[in-house]
Amino acid sequence: MEDRFAFLTEWYDPTSALLRRYQLFYYPRDGSVEMFDVKNQRIFLRRTKYNDMHQEDLFIGNRVNVFSRQLHLIDYGDQYTANKLGSKKERTLALIKPDVVTKIGDILELIYSSNLIVTKAKMTKLTWSQAADFYTEHQGKPFFNNLVQFMSSGPVVAMELMGDEAMSIWRGLLGTSDPAVARREAPQSVRAQFGTDGIKNVGHGSDSPAAAARETEFFFPSTIGHGPSNTAAFTDCTCCIIKPHAISEGLAGKILNSISAGGFEISALQMFNMDRVNAEEFYEVYNGIVTEYPNMVTELCSGPCMALEIHGTDAPKTFREFCGPADPEIARHLRPTTLRALYGKDKVKNAVHCTDLPEDSVLEVQYFFKILDG
Ligand code: ADP
Ligand code: MG
Repeated sequence: MEDRFAFLTEWYDPTSALLRRYQLFYYPRDGSVEMFDVKNQRIFLRRTKYNDMHQEDLFIGNRVNVFSRQLHLIDYGDQYTANKLGSKKERTLALIKPDVVTKIGDILELIYSSNLIVTKAKMTKLTWSQAADFYTEHQGKPFFNNLVQFMSSGPVVAMELMGDEAMSIWRGLLGTSDPAVARREAPQSVRAQFGTDGIKNVGHGSDSPAAAARETEFFFPSTIGHGPSNTAAFTDCTCCIIKPHAISEGLAGKILNSISAGGFEISALQMFNMDRVNAEEFYEVYNGIVTEYPNMVTELCSGPCMALEIHGTDAPKTFREFCGPADPEIARHLRPTTLRALYGKDKVKNAVHCTDLPEDSVLEVQYFFKILDG
């Protein structure tokens, strides 16, 4: 019998403002999908070949696009699927400490090359009491005050990582707590490469499923509130979006490294799952102006994207030049060192969006970091 994976999914229908539920079936043999309307008990989409669905994207909590509908995978549809796809998948919290936030690109490269994916990310600056709360298990230990002081001294980047054995893989990448010991025992580890001392040791990784649940909830609450604030400052800045195709190709680390090497400061960073309505609204200025508009919208809501606030005097102009011409083919001919020349595929999947008109820069940064993360 051929494999069939089943999921319970939700889709927000903007026209009726209703949350609709579908069963989604995926047939890996020929890459076809099928949808069943749960409320009306009837087939909604007959089994159809769909090349944009990939088995590695099928996990609970993820959002997948099926013919421009963004479906939220909320549960397995049967025990077979849960056993076959759900067994070793884990989530963990990875926290990049203030001393190495500029190394985020290198660290993402290591994460992606270990077959983990980043499902959530946010740059934030913790207050003293938030940091104390996060490290509550260490309260009373001799290093507690210094640790909390350091963790609230500058921006950190919190990420939720997902993959087979994510907790132990990320802790393995970090290496042992003391960087001096890590340099002897595991010279390739992140703490060996970038760590300074016991406190300034690059990162944190959850050490148990309970800790992972508590710590991801701390930064990315699923119910009330929206966790520690983002770091956007909305001055001398422009907006950059690493597009979903580039995220799913594992290019985020390389792109962030290129941006830093180009001399730009990343003053805010956050991942978003755009729905169609938001993507249309964000790109509204291109509606009717650019023939790619509908495809740009579809691309932007096809998976998680990463929004950046790029800080610097004249950033709107200099960063736009650094991104290069919108068409990567043209960029490769005329400006081969630009981001689109290096990482783009075509005019729609061109790796990054950047603000076109200087007067829109702050508005675009606000759209993500004030309105969507409101
Ligand atoms: P890990 O981060 O490897 O899980 P722990 O949970 O034991 O390590 O400790 C949390 C953090 O507290 C460490 O990352 C480190 O920065 C700090 N810390 C732990 N032990 C010491 C120590 N003996 N001296 C200084 N700092 C320490
Ligand atoms: Mg620990």
